[in-house]
Amino acid sequence: MSNAYFHIQEPTNEPYFTFAPGTSERESLQKKLRELKSEVIEIPAIINGKEVRTEDTSDVVMPHNHGHKLATLHLCGEKEVNMAIEAALEAQKEWAAMPWQDRVAIFQKAAELVTGPWRDTMNASTMLGQSKTPHQAEIEAAGELADFLRFNAWYLAKIMGEQPYSPDGVWNRVEYRPLEGFVFALSPFNFTAIAGNLPSSPAMCGNVVVWKPSTESVYSNYFFMKILQEAGLPDGVINFVPGRGANVGDPVLASPHFSGLHFTGSEPTFNSLWKTIADHIGQYKTYPRVVGETGGKDFIFAHNSADIDALVVATLRGAFEYQGQKCSAASRMYVPASIWPEFRDKLLAEVARIKMGDVEDFSNFMGAVISKKAFDKICSYIDYAKEAVDAEVIAGGNYDDSVGYFIEPTIVLAKNPKFRTMQEEIFGPVLTIYVYKDDEFEETLDLCDSTSPFALTGAIFAQDRYILNKMADRFRQSAGNFYINDKPTGAVVNQQPFGGSRKSGTNDKAGSMLNILRWLSARSIKEVRVPPKEWRYPYMGTTD
Ligand code: NAD
Repeated sequence: MSNAYFHIQEPTNEPYFTFAPGTSERESLQKKLRELKSEVIEIPAIINGKEVRTEDTSDVVMPHNHGHKLATLHLCGEKEVNMAIEAALEAQKEWAAMPWQDRVAIFQKAAELVTGPWRDTMNASTMLGQSKTPHQAEIEAAGELADFLRFNAWYLAKIMGEQPYSPDGVWNRVEYRPLEGFVFALSPFNFTAIAGNLPSSPAMCGNVVVWKPSTESVYSNYFFMKILQEAGLPDGVINFVPGRGANVGDPVLASPHFSGLHFTGSEPTFNSLWKTIADHIGQYKTYPRVVGETGGKDFIFAHNSADIDALVVATLRGAFEYQGQKCSAASRMYVPASIWPEFRDKLLAEVARIKMGDVEDFSNFMGAVISKKAFDKICSYIDYAKEAVDAEVIAGGNYDDSVGYFIEPTIVLAKNPKFRTMQEEIFGPVLTIYVYKDDEFEETLDLCDSTSPFALTGAIFAQDRYILNKMADRFRQSAGNFYINDKPTGAVVNQQPFGGSRKSGTNDKAGSMLNILRWLSARSIKEVRVPPKEWRYPYMGTTD
């Protein structure tokens, strides 16, 4: 069936449901939420297409109501990892040989399942397991995940068509092979779409994968694994191996067949993985591709020509949507003194209107943070700010984990631009603002660029075009995703390829062809039609 050049249609981004009152999608989602909540499921590992249960289990609970158990999770260790690697290497023989358009067809079908019959399940499981509002779930667990699957298929098709020049008498070709060995996909808790993309994009390219989802998002991630199986993914191509970090990571990285890491998560985790890979480098059969997107200390920088109302909306959404648990969330801000009083009053008035609570109550804008560990860490930063002499908590600051892990949207006003919460990734609903003197604009640009080790996202607000250009130039290396008069979150596949540099990762841009290229290893082929029969070159001839 591969005896023609098949065409992959350029996709469009998946439109989002609004879930407005009275809509059928709202009713359907609410029904699914009730259904999922009414049962406790078992989440086994899925290795070589088979469910694998282990002795080591843990409870999966709802962050906004931690007394409610959603699932029993089977945690993997070295034994299951070795089974998964073996299954992947066995599957590689047929999978790598499958025509690319057939491989791609499986993931295109998965996208249709995500946005069709499984849409409610993906959204409801993301809401319950990761405490997302309907809107936050819909834009990623349905929309972005389907976009990743569809656009990556299209990028791969375009890459396959990239062929070198052939002069007369020669046929030059480039073949795009998968990596030899297996890829380790290691995903974070905060986006179901990222969790789905990390194993899928390498697999689409013919790679085989060991996927360790985060134990904190395993509920929605498990349903996506079921979707891949329903879409026709052959056994062993992606092996779903949930477990505690190093229990899975260490045996995976010790395998000589490890050939690539597709990671998204925190900077310390990526650093430790990179070190482990370096320690094992001599024993790998191939130099592994290391792709990692990590943390951020994302900024909003306002000039005194900024539209204040637009700045308020961008700040509120950028800092507090999904409880600030987006790698791109605004967590530090620079505001000129001349507009500060008006901006402060408007922002505090709007923040006071934010409703937080159970995500099943659709009037809420915020849910709970993901876990007790995250709750304690974020609260320790808030307590630190409350006690500091060079900072003041001007909004929120309260927290309560009696029912769920709830933390109020919190704003810290820092007198010191290098205050700790201006520098470190907190990963929660905490925004720190520094008010600068208008005539120190230039110095404050430098300050913003040099305050944090990260360079993931950043946003500038101004109406003055000279100033916008100046800021865009000055911040060239400060953010991999840069926004002008917009919030620094909400990148869309194929529109704003996503990733940062410096300590924010390898900037291999998820949702673009740049990422897909990392999962292919090119082989150049030269075929000569009529090979030479004489070894001597013309210059060697003599005139005598
Ligand atoms: P995390 O680093 O705690 O965990 C990420 C994954 O690594 C999880 O599956 C975890 O179990 C695993 N892990 C942890 N230690 C390990 C070890 N020693 N060996 C093997 N695996 C290990 O991150 P998280 O809390 O799940 O996610 C939040 C972080 O992710 C934040 O720092 C955020 O900025 C970042 N993030 C970045 C992007 C991006 O595109 N740049 C996107 C989303 C999240």
